Amino acid sequence: MTALLEVKGLRTGYGRIPVVFGIDLEVGESEVVALLGANGAGKTTTLRAISGVIPAFDGEVHFDGRPITSAAPDKIARLGLLHVPEGRGIFPSLAVEETLRLAAAMAAVGKADTEDRLHDAFETFPRLAERATQTAGTLSGGEQQMLALARGLIARPKLLMIDEMSQGLAPTVVAGLFDIVAGFPARGTSVLLVEQFVGQALAIADRAYVLEKGVVSFEGPAAKLAADEEFVKGSYLGDVAVESIHASGDAPGPVESALLAEQVTVRLPPALLRSLEERAQREGVPLPDLVRQAIDDAMASTPTPATTPSRRKAATPSRKRRATRK
Ligand code: ATP
Repeated sequence: MTALLEVKGLRTGYGRIPVVFGIDLEVGESEVVALLGANGAGKTTTLRAISGVIPAFDGEVHFDGRPITSAAPDKIARLGLLHVPEGRGIFPSLAVEETLRLAAAMAAVGKADTEDRLHDAFETFPRLAERATQTAGTLSGGEQQMLALARGLIARPKLLMIDEMSQGLAPTVVAGLFDIVAGFPARGTSVLLVEQFVGQALAIADRAYVLEKGVVSFEGPAAKLAADEEFVKGSYLGDVAVESIHASGDAPGPVESALLAEQVTVRLPPALLRSLEERAQREGVPLPDLVRQAIDDAMASTPTPATTPSRRKAATPSRKRRATRK
């Protein structure tokens, strides 16, 4: 394997506090590599250091044979290493086609090539072609993620690092995105994928790394990791963060303040998580919505000793909850 990206002894973090402790990682030409691990393991931090958003404290990063350790992000992007960040980072007021044209202009793609690449992008993501004049902010979550990927691809990068593309999306939408990403190496773009949908990430990856508390705990063929049922269905991947926002004006007291947002983590037994995932897939709804619904149902049917029945009835509909798979 010819290494396109070579990370050696990377130590990085925030301020002076390291959260990634000397990791080695490689991505070869025409490879899909999955970077997995629990929340807070350091996956996003690793991608940020590789793309120059935060500095490396120690270690070396080489891309396409050149040293890029702590180089400026735009310089790294010009070399063909692009980062599609968590949260997608698209401009809500720009139309789909405008977003792609801007990306082409920023990547210094010539006029004639831009038309070719737009055509390519719309062929890869036909849904975006249908939405070409629609502003990005009005797209569905899945379409926004398609736009973020298409924007990355417009520059024809040698390597695309994709952070949590499935976040907040319905399983059916996620499956479609994985199918598309699996085809990137054939178009000359290798992929480094940070993902919580472990099974699907491993299904399209050639190799995988697992990060635990900032160190690499596994490195090897994706198929080997996929065969480790305990890992794939492991309880540490069963954390579902449920964000509960009291935002409605019809609740008593000062609950209108959005500052009253709270986030709780629900640790589900692997078997229950599996069954919820299967149901979410079957019904085509995001897993967090299913969890939120289950909690809402449980709260509606569980009397709280401190609350009178009539008050409880009045308070329940005032709560809006959002759940996100972490
Ligand atoms: P997740 O799936 O939750 O994003 P992750 O593996 O990507 O997990 P990171 O986001 O890299 O984890 O976070 C690693 C550690 O760095 C965590 O302890 C996190 O709290 C901390 N961290 C992340 N971003 C910052 C930041 N901007 N400033 C300070 N600490 C941060």
